[in-house]
Amino acid sequence: MSESKSDKNKSPQSMHLPLMPLREVVVFPYSIMPLFVGRGSSIHAIEAASSGYDKRIMLVAQRQPEQDKPGPDELYSIGTIAKILQVLRLPDGTIKVLFEGVQRARCIESELVQLPRQEGDNEDNEYYIVKVEPITDVDKSTIEAEATIQATVESLEEYSKLNKKIPPDSLNTISGVNTPGRMADLVASYLKADYKTKQDLLEILDTQERLIKVYEIIQNEIAVANIERTIKNRVKGQMERNQREYYLNEQIKAIHKEMGREDDQQAELQELEIILKEKDMPEEARAKGLSELKKLRVMPPSSAEYTVVRNYLDWIIDLPWNKLQETNLDIKKAREILDADHYGLEKPKERIMEYLAVQKLAHKLKGPILCLVGPPGVGKTSLAKSVARATGREFVRLSLGGVRDEAEIRGHRRTYVGALPGKILQSLKRAKYNNPLFCLDEIDKMTADFRGDPSSALLEVLDPEQNNTFNDHYLDLDYDLSQVFFITTANNLQAIPLPLQDRMEIITLPGYLETEKQHIAKDYLLPKQIEANGLKPENITVSDKAITEVIRSYTREAGVRNLEREIATICRKTAMQLVEKDDLAANFKVGIGSLARLLGVKKVRHGAREQEPLVGVCNGLAYTGVGGDILTIEVAVMPGKGRLHTTGKLGDVMKESAEAALTYVRSRSDHFDLRPDFHKNIDLHIHVPEGATPKDGPSAGITLATAIVSALLGLPVRNDLAMTGEITLRGRVLPIGGLREKLLAAQRALIKTVIIPLDNEKDLKEVPEAVLKGLDIQLVEHVDEVLPQAILAPKNLFERLSDTAPLCHNLKLTDNGDSPTVHAQ
Ligand code: ADP
Repeated sequence: MSESKSDKNKSPQSMHLPLMPLREVVVFPYSIMPLFVGRGSSIHAIEAASSGYDKRIMLVAQRQPEQDKPGPDELYSIGTIAKILQVLRLPDGTIKVLFEGVQRARCIESELVQLPRQEGDNEDNEYYIVKVEPITDVDKSTIEAEATIQATVESLEEYSKLNKKIPPDSLNTISGVNTPGRMADLVASYLKADYKTKQDLLEILDTQERLIKVYEIIQNEIAVANIERTIKNRVKGQMERNQREYYLNEQIKAIHKEMGREDDQQAELQELEIILKEKDMPEEARAKGLSELKKLRVMPPSSAEYTVVRNYLDWIIDLPWNKLQETNLDIKKAREILDADHYGLEKPKERIMEYLAVQKLAHKLKGPILCLVGPPGVGKTSLAKSVARATGREFVRLSLGGVRDEAEIRGHRRTYVGALPGKILQSLKRAKYNNPLFCLDEIDKMTADFRGDPSSALLEVLDPEQNNTFNDHYLDLDYDLSQVFFITTANNLQAIPLPLQDRMEIITLPGYLETEKQHIAKDYLLPKQIEANGLKPENITVSDKAITEVIRSYTREAGVRNLEREIATICRKTAMQLVEKDDLAANFKVGIGSLARLLGVKKVRHGAREQEPLVGVCNGLAYTGVGGDILTIEVAVMPGKGRLHTTGKLGDVMKESAEAALTYVRSRSDHFDLRPDFHKNIDLHIHVPEGATPKDGPSAGITLATAIVSALLGLPVRNDLAMTGEITLRGRVLPIGGLREKLLAAQRALIKTVIIPLDNEKDLKEVPEAVLKGLDIQLVEHVDEVLPQAILAPKNLFERLSDTAPLCHNLKLTDNGDSPTVHAQ
């Protein structure tokens, strides 16, 4: 017991009392506390107090609670003088004592009392008597004290709601107390704080300070109790939810069991696991699949999430990750197959064979993707199919026409409702092998919009350097596309985005000549349709003339798609007749005469050219997405105010060509004996028939100029002549595209002479011999050379055009009248 310094609260009347050490307990003045006493020394002290000290005893806490026989120095110096209210002896020799704290006191000295040994006594027959100095509280009634009392009462009320140990009676008593010291002691005994904190409280002799400390402890305990309560509630909620789910799951299981389905589902998951573990697939995909399967096992099968995960697993399992089909690259056989399937197409076939040969040597597919470009029906897709047959690969086809969303190529992320992988992986799943021939049709018909540019996704698919790690959004795993043999097709090379063109080797398939179509029809399309319509070759004979007539009068196309359709109609009708006649061995002959009956009236005018030369009408040649075509341009002149009308859905470029042509004519007006301001009093109307089809492009320039001059001069244009060429303001003729298709169209339309720009001479190499032979091709550099050949005029009219006189030198010509005269010589 340490000797304390004197302080002003010390009471002069010291006294001697028996001492009882306390273990982990602090008894406060004014509090009543029952304690079980077992130590011999304590029992002796209580007995001594009961007999000789007016039932008073000094209670002091031990510094080390684990000590059994603490000496006075091992106790705190401040304790409480208590009154023994009741003593109850228990059968086990211990006693239960009810103490009432009376007053704080400080121990000053101690003296060990040794009791005489009696029989049966243990060694503990001694106790201490201490000299104590009672400490009386000095309460000052200040505003601060009042406020602290008030705050303590309020917080105690809140605390009592959380700590049910404070009986309502005590609460009432405490509320009635108006001295801080007493209140602090009363409340302290109810606090949960540990004995050390309580001993600290006991030692605070300034009453105001003591109550503030009590208040702080209460606040702290409220905070702790609140946190405890939230945690308890949360845990309780979670447990209730878990219990609910567990209960419901058990119910579902019970229902499934009742319906005999439980085993099915378990077996299904088991089967999935076996497939995932055994199937040949990249480890990354397997790991992902197994982790998804793990999730699936703990999900209720009826939940939406279950279906999503299940579908995903099906995709992982169904994709042909590493499954390759045995391919054979016998170059000789490949050529035989290509020849057997397609007539002609020498150049494309040659290029394809070269490509295959390189692949065979290099033992891999790396290299540019093939892109077959040409008008519809020229055999692009069927050529790709033949390549698949020749190389022994599965054939899959995906049309990109109208694809405008990147997700169609690359898939949607799994978070989207109803998400699926993109079309590339969908097609591969269908192919069942990871090395098919994949034909991407109409690659020029993709469009980009706000949902992203599909062509950029396609770039990754078609890039041999990148496509071994193609990342589909749905799958979210790298997929190896490097074994896939991609072939793309397009109608119009210009419409393919340049970066895509860059990755591809372009092979053009131009339209067919009439003679080629004849062969295709006779040797390929007819036998194919005979078989498709259930006929035998001996049932039908179609004459060559009939085929020519079908080509000329029922189809007008660069390819043979419509031709095949018409031949199919002939075969179908013949099959019908065969059945009606009920003679399966009958033979039907199809000649020109039977075409009207079988195919109806002629669909195409024989040749698109005019029957006779007309004023202001000139044949142009156009190149459209479906091949070349004849484009007749008509010009009419009427009195007016110098306006230029255009009709027939002309595009901006074509309208500008018309204006350029008109400017040329005006600059040359003196050569044509026109007044310099002839245009002021007339209106020109330019029309291109088949008004519903939009037309555009600069290559109609010289045709427009010729038609305008013809209309102004009132002189007709040769109807067996066609022309193509861009025009400058000075009348120079610039080169055009699609020459081959245009010349084919001219030949189809029975044109004799074709005027083309001199700069296109080099392209004539591409044009088949047969076409060149049948046409008189004139190469020109200037419109001045075109007019004399095209316009049927008196001999010397255009002679002056060969002058190289500066343009518009005729501005000084006099105006000789104001009527809208158009002079013709
Ligand atoms: P594209 O893909 O170019 O639009 P297709 O490949 O669909 O055209 O061809 C249309 C039809 O014409 C197919 O039945 C095809 O077999 C046939 N065909 C095209 N060119 C030839 C050819 N050179 N020899 C034989 N058949 C051909």
